[in-house]
Amino acid sequence: MMEEMIIDRLRAIVGPSNVTTEYEDLLCYAYDATFRESLPAVVVKPRSTEEISLIMRLANEYKIPVVPRGAGTGLSGGSVPLKGGICLVLTRLNRILSIDKENRVAVVEPGVITDDFHAVTEQMGLFYPPDPASGKTSTMGGNIAECAGGARGVKYGVTKDYVLGLEVVLPQGDVITVGNPIDGETGDYDYPLLFTGSEGTLGIITKIMVRLIPLPPYKETVLAIYDQLEAAGETVSTMIKQGVIPTTLEIADHATINAVENYLAIGLPTDAQAFLLIEVDGIKDEVVRQIAIVEETCRRFGAVSIKVARTKEEIDKLWLARRSISGACGKISPTKISEDATVPRSKIPEMIKKVREIAEKYGIKMVIFGHAGDGNLHPNVLTDKRNKEEMARVEEAVAELFQATVEMGGTLSGEHGIGYMKAPFLKWETGETGYQVMKAIKKQLDPHNILNPGKMFTD
Ligand SMILES: Cc1cc2nc3c(=O)[nH]c(=O)nc-3n(C[C@H](O)[C@H](O)[C@H](O)COP(=O)(O)OP(=O)(O)OC[C@H]3O[C@@H](n4cnc5c(N)ncnc54)[C@H](O)[C@@H]3O)c2cc1C
Repeated sequence: MMEEMIIDRLRAIVGPSNVTTEYEDLLCYAYDATFRESLPAVVVKPRSTEEISLIMRLANEYKIPVVPRGAGTGLSGGSVPLKGGICLVLTRLNRILSIDKENRVAVVEPGVITDDFHAVTEQMGLFYPPDPASGKTSTMGGNIAECAGGARGVKYGVTKDYVLGLEVVLPQGDVITVGNPIDGETGDYDYPLLFTGSEGTLGIITKIMVRLIPLPPYKETVLAIYDQLEAAGETVSTMIKQGVIPTTLEIADHATINAVENYLAIGLPTDAQAFLLIEVDGIKDEVVRQIAIVEETCRRFGAVSIKVARTKEEIDKLWLARRSISGACGKISPTKISEDATVPRSKIPEMIKKVREIAEKYGIKMVIFGHAGDGNLHPNVLTDKRNKEEMARVEEAVAELFQATVEMGGTLSGEHGIGYMKAPFLKWETGETGYQVMKAIKKQLDPHNILNPGKMFTD
């Protein structure tokens, strides 16, 4: 319960219609795309940097937790209000402020939907490559806070590679602008990188300056079907070694293919053990040359069927299967725990083997699909959170998966962030000193630990 006086002050800052404490409303903001729920005390929807600054000053005065929230599609639990407090919804800051075609930079507010931004830039012949599969819903602010990746990461990198500057409201209410919209170069520390991927623990992102590139003129997509998952994994490692630079290189295993086919009935072979979806974009002649190498490599590793799509309609049809995976898995089990532990690309075959061993050892259902070109296999556990005994086995399996990832030189988070879900394991990756440095930065900026407590750090 939050004191009525504080609620009144919040109403005075953002207007009464943008504050709610109704139970039904709170429930809508108690969860994200993970499985844990925790009610905020109040939901507040500001419209400007100034309002957010005032809210943070108030929260500091009374030591109230504040959880920034975009669309709530996070897969590590970043926007779940674990300690109650204020759920700060940023979707009303939703304007594209400028797109400078000549200098190829754009300035947007954090509540802009990712795919809306893609559509606007692409109409102008410009390209913003980060493309989380949640792009129809996720916000640019959430993407920056999680350093989102996506299928195109293998060629174009992830969100941090496009952030030039940010406006940030710091936990105590001060506002700073870091980086710049020209080339991101400044004489100070590389602050945009500090806030990108900080998961709402260091500041609230209120303006975003990003780099754009020219829209590639041509692309082709290949769907290769395999009767062995390992062979698909070997194809990925070999293709990268051969110097092919695919725009996307997605993998899906037997269970995933079946889930999608049951869901969509689009004629995927249900006895197939894996598919690879490979796209190459750029100048037409070069695309054609690289696609020939792709086809040859797929064939060499025993692909049983290879389809090449060239028109937009054909390409969209091939992508339908990949885009439907999350929904399809949701039909199999009520709880999907989506891991994005990522290994060096040369270790993909080893990781595939490990995931299968772990699933068998703990007797759990795990499917593999993801951005294999980045070394990101997305092992997804399909379970039911109401089954306490199975959830205990899932927890042990996930810990073993993380251990294997770190041992192979990988990372706990290819793109989904640490949130509350991976916080207990963060030290395995950072080491004690790295962890303490991160904590020191957090403490300096947020001495009362009011901004998104319980995320990234467990203590
Ligand atoms: C079906 C599905 C597919 C997905 N595919 C991908 C994928 O391919 N690649 C990928 O990277 N992710 C993917 N995700 C995960 C998720 O969509 C991303 O992490 C996305 O960036 C979250 O955006 P959001 O607006 O939903 O943020 P939220 O979930 O609301 O918040 C995420 C985190 O960001 C913080 N935050 C939000 N806005 C701000 C702000 N303005 N300032 C400071 N902190 C803020 C929150 O506190 C929280 O810690 C997927 C999720 C789903 C459900």
